[in-house]
Amino acid sequence: MSELKLCQGPKCHQYQTKDRLKGMKDNKTYQTRRRSSLYYGSGNFCSMNCYNDWAEIFIDRAVDHFGRLTEPKHLTEQNAWTKDYDFQNGWGSDKNYYYLNGITKERRPLTEEQYNDNNYTINTGE
Ligand SMILES: [Zn+2]
Repeated sequence: MSELKLCQGPKCHQYQTKDRLKGMKDNKTYQTRRRSSLYYGSGNFCSMNCYNDWAEIFIDRAVDHFGRLTEPKHLTEQNAWTKDYDFQNGWGSDKNYYYLNGITKERRPLTEEQYNDNNYTINTGE
């Protein structure tokens, strides 16, 4: 059995739903949700409500911690490559993976491994 994850929502236990009411018969309390998988905020929250509760309290500190943008980023030929695919023979057949440059509209072929590899990029700069 996989380990249960706790919702990181600071007010999760305050939402009085049946599934949050846990404990022995006369000693039940509303508790933070525990699930094998959570579907919001990269698997950290049980709902958008809990995600938003967290963000309301912590988002400024998180952005400051990981680096607040102080100048706008620029889309250039060097960083405008995005991965995409279409189908070789119309619908329901093998996928044709490619890089598409959003500025020049140039296409370059990609292998399926390159497409699925989140670290693979031909972009240079942010
Ligand atoms: Zn929650």
